[in-house]
Amino acid sequence: MAEKKFSAKEATEFFIKQIKEKDEEVKAFLEVFEESALEEAKRVDEILEKRENFGVLTGVPMAVKDNILIKGKEATGGSKILKGHRAEYDATVIKKLKESKVVFLGRTNMDEFAMGSSTENSAWQVTHNPNDLERVPGGTSGGSAAAVAAEMAMAALGSDTGGSIRQPASFCGVVGLKPTYGAVSRFGLIAAASSFDQIGLLTKTAEDAAIIFSAIAGKDELDSTNSVSDFGGEFEKDDFERVKSFTLGIPKELLDKDGKFKGLDLETAVEIEKSKKRLEDLGIKFKEVSMPFIEYALPCYYIMIFAEESSNLARFDGLRYGASTKENKSLFDLYLENKSAGFGEEVKRRIILGTFVLSSGYYDAYYGKAEKVRRLIKKDFKNVFSSVDAIFMPTAPTVAYKIGEKIIDPLAMYMGDIFTVTASVAGLPAVSLPTEKKENRKKLPVGFQIIGKPFHEGEILKVGMAYEK
Ligand code: GLN
Repeated sequence: MAEKKFSAKEATEFFIKQIKEKDEEVKAFLEVFEESALEEAKRVDEILEKRENFGVLTGVPMAVKDNILIKGKEATGGSKILKGHRAEYDATVIKKLKESKVVFLGRTNMDEFAMGSSTENSAWQVTHNPNDLERVPGGTSGGSAAAVAAEMAMAALGSDTGGSIRQPASFCGVVGLKPTYGAVSRFGLIAAASSFDQIGLLTKTAEDAAIIFSAIAGKDELDSTNSVSDFGGEFEKDDFERVKSFTLGIPKELLDKDGKFKGLDLETAVEIEKSKKRLEDLGIKFKEVSMPFIEYALPCYYIMIFAEESSNLARFDGLRYGASTKENKSLFDLYLENKSAGFGEEVKRRIILGTFVLSSGYYDAYYGKAEKVRRLIKKDFKNVFSSVDAIFMPTAPTVAYKIGEKIIDPLAMYMGDIFTVTASVAGLPAVSLPTEKKENRKKLPVGFQIIGKPFHEGEILKVGMAYEK
């Protein structure tokens, strides 16, 4: 675009055409902003003409998950209860990307209020994995991952509470970055579990993720949990070489007696071993480390997020938008009816469980206990980071499963998050990278995960860039 080989309008038109051709089957988008995207592209072309303020993201067409607010656009968080809700303001990430002159192509499908792992919990539609249309794209940012995988967007914003960026990235064969908790402002993100939620990226390459991350990261006074990141987005050569002498830790609690990751399906196990070998070929070393509390990450995660989700969901009453019946009823009956009609099954399950773990007499036994375990898991990471640079593990135990296969068994669905929730509980940055390029892949995609020290997004992405090369 900078060399004027094509215009911003042509780039946007290309992706809109891709969406029109492919999305009838994939169903990644809930809405395509055809008109406003072309207008934004036109403005970019004017800038290009004058050669002013041209940055690396100028005119780049991106998709946005349905839980991130864009002023004037509908944002439902995948839920019926927010049908017709139009954002009154821009999320901080959107404001920053607008300053970078990104073109917004549309909003993508997600599990209702970011609860799930397959995008099947969306109130609107089921998204299909572009690699095999009978399979799920993963979740909850399944729409964003599928959009990037099917080349219907250059990149997409997602959100990750316990794996919602990384696991769909793994299932769809793209790169997924969950930043450190606090590195990216949550202002304008429809909350799921507030002490876990982070906005992040689904991209084709680790370098793309680094470029967009450096545009959205940084201090924001509108999010009190937001901290300053030391990531500058600059890739110095010597730094790049430095990651090749990294030592990556593997928690021995996740391994069987033969030193292989426990509980993986065959395709995943084979691909994970191959990716380890390739990293070793780069000069990277592996070291077994002990993290005694890591096996409690999954129950700790689910108890805490149920509690936080049930608290956050209390605000949705269906009165201003959504399912309101508007009949002459008592306030209590109106709430009951709106919430019953507006929330899906998984959301209701979590409201009930979350209310239970927070209730008097059970708080100490569940939520209070989980908080303590969370602290011990954080300590485990802190200890191992004194002897290794980052942690290596699979992103998901399996490849993408069939649509309908796990939706009937919520517990089986939760178990699939075993590898992603650890970084979430500890608030650490993590990236999922495809083990194999699309061109070389024979079967379904598999992703491996690199978990870094707090605010070391630059390092884990550089490991990704070295691997991609
Ligand atoms: N699958 C996890 C859950 O259902 C993670 C979801 C997410 O990261 N938003 O909570």
